[in-house]
Amino acid sequence: MNETVEEFLEEYTETIQSCERFAFLPRGIEYQKGAIRDLTELLEKSGEIRIEVIEQEDEEAANQVLVLRCMINALRYDLKMWIDLKKEEWGKAWDALVDAQDSARSARSAHEIAKQCNVKNYLGKLEMIEKFVFPPQTFNSPGLYVENFLCSICGEDYSECEHIAGEPYWGFFCQRVVDGVAGTREVSIVDNPEDKKARVTEHVTDDGMIRDQLTWKKREMDEEEKERYQDRSDDHLITRGIIMTADDSETDFTEYFPD
Ligand SMILES: [Zn+2]
Repeated sequence: MNETVEEFLEEYTETIQSCERFAFLPRGIEYQKGAIRDLTELLEKSGEIRIEVIEQEDEEAANQVLVLRCMINALRYDLKMWIDLKKEEWGKAWDALVDAQDSARSARSAHEIAKQCNVKNYLGKLEMIEKFVFPPQTFNSPGLYVENFLCSICGEDYSECEHIAGEPYWGFFCQRVVDGVAGTREVSIVDNPEDKKARVTEHVTDDGMIRDQLTWKKREMDEEEKERYQDRSDDHLITRGIIMTADDSETDFTEYFPD
């Protein structure tokens, strides 16, 4: 293994072990916040390590660093989720869980070193949390008319370049970047969506109120909603939800640093 990576791996293991102790509900928020700050610093360091090994022209090492970055990020979201849950920010907590899962899954496609980072067990833990902490969710999947996709690696038209979405190149994943949406074809309700943050968040009840899918709490419609749904018939189920989220939206973790 590349010496630079080997050295960083030691620091990684030490920090991950000290932070994962706090990824449980009863742990004090101040410790969880401290762990998020430590992981953020480690993530920044890993960015420098990635630059270093790219300069050494070692692509394999860069992809190994990418695995570690994915796992650092996953644990950061994991900790954030527990804080959000304690603050009763249920929707945010759900999003953090999904981000943790997505990051850990990405780790597996970056390099086989993921096997040594316990990624499989970690994903199992997150799946348990999804099942036992959150109520079952209903998901949306949008069918879009996309004008064009660009490649995140070379910036060229995705259909014409050599890169493959989801594959790592020199420590970065290739992503298909949507370049102009011409419209939405349809929105489907699905069991296994690509984006689990795109979920049904509310529905209109038989007695004309709005019910939250996570808390199951009911509330009165506001004036605008009353007007919008006044013509609904009893055999139509009206749901409201998130259709799609940007996967390049960066979470501001500084809000989760210790005070
Ligand atoms: Zn490309």
